[in-house]
Amino acid sequence: MSKGFLLVISGPSGSGKGTVSQALLERNKDIVFSISATTRKPRPGEKDGVNYFFLEEEEFMKRAERGEFLEYAFVHNNYYGTPKDFVLKEIEKGEIVLLEIDVQGALQIKKNYKNVVFVFLLPPTMDELKNRIIKRGTETEEDIELRLKNAFEELDFVGEYDYFVVNDKVEDAVKDIEHIIKAEKLRVKRHSDIKKKVMKKEED
Ligand code: 5GP
Repeated sequence: MSKGFLLVISGPSGSGKGTVSQALLERNKDIVFSISATTRKPRPGEKDGVNYFFLEEEEFMKRAERGEFLEYAFVHNNYYGTPKDFVLKEIEKGEIVLLEIDVQGALQIKKNYKNVVFVFLLPPTMDELKNRIIKRGTETEEDIELRLKNAFEELDFVGEYDYFVVNDKVEDAVKDIEHIIKAEKLRVKRHSDIKKKVMKKEED
């Protein structure tokens, strides 16, 4: 059986990670989303256990100390972390697990895990990025400034990733990621029994 892998998608706030990930998941039922834990307060419409596991800082740190996160980081003044158990179990089952995490988290994963595909999502321009964050209307002015400052810094890390995708139109960005997944699935290293499979086909 082919093994599952982690698909890490990062990109600055406003690059459209959430929208692109959502569309990707809707179209590809073989991808599972890893729901992160966070100390951020829910935005209107966000649900606990759906968008995030919303935790108090004390509970978050307890879980971090117990080693329950695959990675965690302090992002835009809040903690965010990836639950380890869920991700490792899904990988073992052969699933593709989508992690929508920041650059710091991605670097931790890169250091500690092998079977990972790293995708960096970019906005068409930084002006467009700013417009998107403002239009979303969920952040304070101070938070918008912080997210923009962080966006510039995050761009320095694009070289750490395997692929970049420009999110001009969501549909195109999703297709690009689907192509990446397709190619990754065909990697020889992900299959231990290629010859056997071909031989079996001949017999059929
Ligand atoms: P937001 O508050 O806009 O939902 O997310 C803020 C940032 O935190 C985004 O860059 C998002 O990718 C990142 N993030 C979300 N979940 C995780 C996580 O589990 N780990 C890390 N390191 N970053 C995360």
